[in-house]
Amino acid sequence: MAAGSAIQIPTRLPLLLTHESVLLPGSTMRTSVDSPRNMQLVRSRLLKGTSLRSTIIGVIPNTSDPTSDCDDLPNLHRIGTAALAVQVVGSNWPKPHYTLLVTGLCRFQILQLLKERPYPIAEVQQLDRLEQFTNGHKSEEELGELSEQFYKYAVQLVEMLDMSVPAVAKLRRLLDNLPREALPDILTSIIRTTNQEKLQILDAVRLEERFKMTIPLLVRQIEGLKLLQKTRKSKQDDDKRVVAIRPNRRIAHGSITEDEEEEEDHDDVVMLEKKIRTSSMSEQALKVCLKEIKRLKKMPQSMPEYALTRNYLELMVELPWNKSTKDRLEIRAARIVLDNDHYAMEKLKKRVLEYLAVRQLKNNLKGPILCFVGPPGVGKTSVGRSIAKTLGREFHRIALGGVCDQSDIRGHRRTYVGSMPGRIINGLKTVGVNNPVFLLDEVDKLAKSLQGDPAAALLEVLDPEQNHSFTDHYLNVAFDLSQVLFIATANTTATIPPALLDRMEVIQVPGYTQEEKIEIAHRHLIPKQLELHGLTPQQIQIPQVTTLGIITRYTREAGVRALDRKLGAICRAVAVKVAEGQHKEAKPDRAEVGEGEDCKEHITEDAKPESISDTADLSLPPEMPILIDFHALKDILGPPMYDMEVSERLNQPGVAIGLAWTPLGGEIMFVEASRMDGEGQLTLTGQLGDVMKESAHLAISWLRSNAKRYQLTNASGSFDLLDNTDIHLHFPAGAVTKDGPSAGVTIVTCLASLFSGRLVCSDVAMTGEITLRGLVLPVGGIKDKVLAAHRAGLKRIILPQRNEKDLEEIAAHVRQDLTFVLAAGLDEVLNAAFDGGFAVKASLEHFNSKL
Ligand code: ADP
Repeated sequence: MAAGSAIQIPTRLPLLLTHESVLLPGSTMRTSVDSPRNMQLVRSRLLKGTSLRSTIIGVIPNTSDPTSDCDDLPNLHRIGTAALAVQVVGSNWPKPHYTLLVTGLCRFQILQLLKERPYPIAEVQQLDRLEQFTNGHKSEEELGELSEQFYKYAVQLVEMLDMSVPAVAKLRRLLDNLPREALPDILTSIIRTTNQEKLQILDAVRLEERFKMTIPLLVRQIEGLKLLQKTRKSKQDDDKRVVAIRPNRRIAHGSITEDEEEEEDHDDVVMLEKKIRTSSMSEQALKVCLKEIKRLKKMPQSMPEYALTRNYLELMVELPWNKSTKDRLEIRAARIVLDNDHYAMEKLKKRVLEYLAVRQLKNNLKGPILCFVGPPGVGKTSVGRSIAKTLGREFHRIALGGVCDQSDIRGHRRTYVGSMPGRIINGLKTVGVNNPVFLLDEVDKLAKSLQGDPAAALLEVLDPEQNHSFTDHYLNVAFDLSQVLFIATANTTATIPPALLDRMEVIQVPGYTQEEKIEIAHRHLIPKQLELHGLTPQQIQIPQVTTLGIITRYTREAGVRALDRKLGAICRAVAVKVAEGQHKEAKPDRAEVGEGEDCKEHITEDAKPESISDTADLSLPPEMPILIDFHALKDILGPPMYDMEVSERLNQPGVAIGLAWTPLGGEIMFVEASRMDGEGQLTLTGQLGDVMKESAHLAISWLRSNAKRYQLTNASGSFDLLDNTDIHLHFPAGAVTKDGPSAGVTIVTCLASLFSGRLVCSDVAMTGEITLRGLVLPVGGIKDKVLAAHRAGLKRIILPQRNEKDLEEIAAHVRQDLTFVLAAGLDEVLNAAFDGGFAVKASLEHFNSKL
């Protein structure tokens, strides 16, 4: 429909009331229809109508409150726009509604409302686009001037827009093609105007008035655009200036601040270059750095690569290429440091001293890497620290637990965003010397992933033949690691990659006995905790029995870490008391309190558990030192966590105690068996590995083949133990996976107890692999296992005969407390496990009496 041609609208129009916006002739608008009247109009008029006329509606801006639209028809605005409904889109979600696309045709005014329901219909009079409108209009000249002015503004406005946008170019063409009279309406609906302003334009029926009203709107928009373009330009200028700083460095121009900035930057780079030239980096590194600094000089600062290159160069300068500490190794002093820092661990200390002695004589590090293997908290890290101390070297710990990306060791290539050097180079930067002691903690917990194998990267680091030219991906030049002393720690050798294990000398660090723990606590842990908490020995006293109580009833571990934590908790509690006391006490008297040696505050056996908190309420400070006894222990640490349960659990047949080795140290393990009617099935529970399952089958086979000899029968008296019988074997603490052959003897004993109905002695623990022929083969981890049995208060331990040599490692006082039975065959095991032996005759009598 050509905008300029005359049109004629029907004299009766259905009315659509719109809240959202005002439709002006010549523009198109999308409006949402959801009020009942408008919905009715759409349904019964637009969707049902068939002629073009039926799609012409009157759009009236609803100036009244939209919420009152539902019931009575509001006062209608007098003037509206006749419109062509171009499109109706219906939707049911979130509630039924239509979206209507309407194009304004011309103004009309309501003469009379004919009908209100279901939708309003009115008799209307068309106000513009009539035949006579284009022809005989008054004051042609004045209007011509106005319209010319309007046209100029309109062109100015459109030309300020981006002409490369097709819609803008089209608009520009429209300005020339459309009749001038149509322009005010069209431009008003394009530019930024409020509904109120649009309404005024709608009401401006006279063309002259309309031109006059729209010109200020156009001017306003032009001014707004100008302002916007100005701010944009200045921002772009800023950007450009930043980019321009570097290339224009040598050209003296621009403002003073720009100059200063340039200078500063330039100075920085020059400084960096100077540092590079004076640093002691290798020739190869120097070459790379000089090349990079040349690139840096040419690079605009805003480039992301600028920061990257700069960081790289700064790291290169910071790295200790040639800086080292002087070794002050003296074996006698080293022995004293090691002895002072650590109690017990004789074997470890001896090996470390040997290692250091060789270093002193040979003055080179080519040799195996020491790897301390043992449960947590046995002092592996702390020995590493002492070694650094004896050598006068810097110490740095690199935690490898869970590292699964080889770039963690070897760095990322610099092409990656956020690339960084690996942990080795980072460590060197941190310590600032090239000969530190690096403790590679938990090498057994390295993992593999898609990002490569970190163990393989470590191989290069640890190999003395290769590590003088270790190339980190980030540095991309070789760094000499041959002066670094590497020490590794692990909980188990089982999960250390074999190639890595091959490069290391494993030194086992077993767990501690109770006595050793008490000594460690009193010589090292308690003094350390006191210092940490600002306490003095005059303020707190922890007797040895209390320490033993903590060890046996509050911790169950091979090392001393939990013990250390518990001691820390006690110190904290005491610190509160002491601080409260100080607060209450007049300050000048403090010295006397400290010296009051003989006035100890005993929290005695019969004191109430609240005793410690009671002291806080006393007006006097607690008397020093505060003595920690069992009641205080319970107060601070809560009820004991572990009780001796051994004898309780061995009060029925079918239970035996085995000894297991885990990376966390030795443990005692109750093996339970029961039998029931069935078809000879064996059920095993408790997260077992394959080897353990095989041991169970071996044990059953051996017992079945020896059932007659030992007079073992199933419930119905048959020597075929599995005849009509199912067996269930359970290894408690089900969440922990158990594997290995060493439970063989325990399973045999447990089943022998089940089928004989006899109780296994409650103070016996055992370990050993079995064969089908009834031999007992040696197993590993004897020291840890024996210590676990000792911790649990067991008295007799059955071991494979060929493990006899391992007993030498066990401290004499532990050996004294225990009786060892060294068994070569299962007969001996069973004889030792049952009171009165398990010999054929004896067992027969016993067996009969039981039945
Ligand atoms: P690991 O590295 O074996 O897990 P740590 O070296 O971290 O154990 O030791 C834990 C804590 O126990 C440290 O505070 C350490 O000083 C202390 N510790 C362990 N063993 C001894 C010991 N034999 N003598 C003195 N302190 C010890």
